[in-house]
This record gives sequence, structure tokens and C-alpha cells, in this order.
Amino acid sequence: MFLMGKTALITGSTSGIGLAYAKALAAEGANVVINGFGDPAAIEAERRALAAASGAGALYSGHDLTKVDQIEAMMAEAASAFGGVDVLINNAGTQHVAPVEEFPVDKWNLIIALNLSSAFHTTRLAVPWMKEKRWGRIIQTASAHSLAASPFKSAYVTAKHGLAGFTKTVALETATFGITANCISPGYVWTPLVENQIPDTMKARGMTREQVMNDVLLAGQPTKQFVTVEQVAAMALYLCRDEASSITGANMSIDGGWTAQ
Ligand code: NAD
Repeated sequence: MFLMGKTALITGSTSGIGLAYAKALAAEGANVVINGFGDPAAIEAERRALAAASGAGALYSGHDLTKVDQIEAMMAEAASAFGGVDVLINNAGTQHVAPVEEFPVDKWNLIIALNLSSAFHTTRLAVPWMKEKRWGRIIQTASAHSLAASPFKSAYVTAKHGLAGFTKTVALETATFGITANCISPGYVWTPLVENQIPDTMKARGMTREQVMNDVLLAGQPTKQFVTVEQVAAMALYLCRDEASSITGANMSIDGGWTAQ
């Protein structure tokens, strides 16, 4: 339990990759702050399970991270419960698929706010605590789309490329404080985010569900398999270890070979 006494805040952790991070970090004894939307009873059950697994604290903070004042409220709740955040995982994200000339302006603004700007706000608020302790881990769930583009995903690709650049800058600014900042960049992971974009992709490309699965999603993934949430969480856990203290400003691909092409 190498994270005993540490506190991890994971945005967008009521589902998918974020929930897997929370489980992996709690299993190593960390206090966890989870965030995101969903059924209150299901979230409370997850929160209790996380506390039972860690033997430490688990707090749910359900703020909407597209709003700066709500991000500030979430970080204040983490500080008041646990005194600050040692491991910050910026993971909340959403997707919208449409040609650029039809891309809804409200969807563009939403994706930039959630997938990119929220990471700036959580980071600016967490770094002072980390600098004081001279230890910290900032981990972003970026994406293969932080390294390469796909059509019809202009906002997402823009946000993820921005997140990768932001992370490099933070890594340079914090390098002498025992803090690392890295991106994890998965290819396609089977989660609700991927499942939910299938109907729009069917529409945008005029394809059946099966064609979208095989000819779009897994077409670029040489392993022809979805990445698992557990594989992504294991990388985050590794980045928290002392052995990973020289890994900073990096963008770690877990994409079945996608960006090797
Ligand atoms: P998901 O839809 O399962 O989870 C998204 C989480 O974000 C949920 O907990 C949701 O409640 C939360 N969320 C949504 N809007 C929010 C808001 N306004 N404020 C706070 N929380 C909000 O998706 P996922 O696939 O687990 O994605 C997690 C991250 O991984 C995202 O950043 C995504 O871009 C990235 N990613 C996913 C894949 C993939 O194939 N699934 C690949 C690469 C990167």
C-alpha cells in the first residue's frame, strides 16, 4: 500500500477509465476524491467500496467541471477533507463527432472547457500544495488524439493536443519540486464515452454500427483489440511510484500501436 497517507483526486471518476484509476489508487491505500455525474445511489456504493478497499477516506464531489467556480469548490472540499491533493488525475472528458462546418458551437465550448481548461484550473490550485510537500503527481488522461487527428473530432483533437502541451509546460515548471506531470494517451478503450459516439459516427460516415466498430474504431488500432481500463489505471499507478520520479513531461501511449503507424 505505497500510497497510504496520500490523497488522490480523479476528475470524471464515476465511470470508465476514471473509476478504474480510483480503484487502483484506493487499493494502494490512498484517500480518494471522486467526481463526475451519475446515479447517486450507484456513486455512493462506489464511494463506500473505495473507502473499504483503501482503509482510508473516500469523498464524492459532484461538481460540474465546465464551471470555474465549481472546480474551485471541489478543490476546496478536497483540502478541507484531506488537507490537499498529492495525486491529481485530470480525466473528465467528453466527445462530439461532426464535420467542422457543422460543429455545434456549444459542443466546441463544452469540450474545450471540460477536456482542456478544467485541467488548467485543477492544476493551478493543486500545485501550491504539491510544492509545499515537495512531492506530487499530475496525470492527464490525454488520448492518441493528443498525438494524431481523426476527421470529425476537431474540438476533441484540439483539446487533447492542448492538454499535451500544457502538461509539458507544467512538468518544466515543477521539475525541481519532486512533482511530475505526464499524459497517458490511450487508443480506443471500451467505455461509455466510446459507446456513445457510435450513433453520431454512423450518421457522419453513413455506416452501420458494425462498420463503425471494425472500420473506424479498431481500424487504426493494430492489435484489433480495445485497451482495457485496468491497463490504463496500471500505468497511472506506475507513474505514482518512486521508480517513475524521472518520468516527467512525457506522453505515454497505450494504444495498441495506433500512433506507431
Ligand atoms: P466516460 O464517459 O466513461 O467517463 C467520463 C467521466 O467524466 C464520467 O465520470 C462523467 O460523469 C464525467 N463527466 C462528464 N462531464 C462532466 C462534467 N461536466 N464535470 C465533471 N465530470 C464530468 O469516459 P471515458 O472513456 O472513461 O473517458 C475518460 C477520459 O479518457 C476522457 O478524458 C477521454 O477523453 C479519455 N479517453 C478515452 C478513450 C476511450 O477510448 N474511452 C480514449 C482516449 C482517451
